[in-house]
Amino acid sequence: MPASSDSPPEPLQRPYHPSALILGSVALHIAAVGVVLMRPHLWPWALAAVVANHLTLTAAGLWPRARLLGPNLTRLPSGAAARGEVAITIDDGPDPEVTPAVLALLDRHGVRASFFCVGERIARFPQLAREIVARGHSVENHSQHHLHRFSLLGPRRLRAEIGGAQESIAFATGAAPRFFRAPAGLRNPFLERELARAGLTLVSWTRRGFDTVSTSPDQVLERLTRGLRAGDILLLHDGHAGRTAGGSPVILEVLPPLLAAVGTAGLKPVTLRAGCA
Ligand SMILES: [Zn+2]
Repeated sequence: MPASSDSPPEPLQRPYHPSALILGSVALHIAAVGVVLMRPHLWPWALAAVVANHLTLTAAGLWPRARLLGPNLTRLPSGAAARGEVAITIDDGPDPEVTPAVLALLDRHGVRASFFCVGERIARFPQLAREIVARGHSVENHSQHHLHRFSLLGPRRLRAEIGGAQESIAFATGAAPRFFRAPAGLRNPFLERELARAGLTLVSWTRRGFDTVSTSPDQVLERLTRGLRAGDILLLHDGHAGRTAGGSPVILEVLPPLLAAVGTAGLKPVTLRAGCA
């Protein structure tokens, strides 16, 4: 029984404005075709220009915090920073073992976070998704299947991955996501158009702990708190959680000292929705 009367409205489609790099790439392709038609002997130069352009687009997509392919939130807006807010974002769940413990920890500290969930995991554990929302956190879109080849998908498959997770999450929680994070942060030039169509805003991070691969909570904490300041967006994982030498999920070891460090710095964790309101 998903919908509730106080659910936020469905995100509206927003206008798509291609980035300068994408507009330039389209113009370059048209020019390359024109050159080949009018001066066929120049085809190697036209081909080289197109190849160089594709390499640039690929590099922009492999750089998670880049804005060359479209808008990309790497920090909270200046108003949130002025209020001393930071956003803790937690990816790849929900996970039936780790997520309940994360929720208990956040409750104990009176902290709200944003969970970038995988649609198919939401469909498997809808009660967990409802629990996240019931405790005042938000559930955002991290694609339907978290495919490693996400950045290689064309527009139709991207639309299915984004739309599938929107539906899974809205069905389970009654609230449609407003933010999207690409699997591993990897993107391609088709993504922004599909996000605009779904009314979603791309979010990456200010810094991440690499907690899916690290076994050391101290190192993860150091990566997240080095230079910590208002407006930061921090990334941790409850799904695919790395384990300490003792077998404990790294996020559970990192969250208490991280929240203490945030408090000591006079900062306040908020959801992305609150920080971007
Ligand atoms: Zn992920």
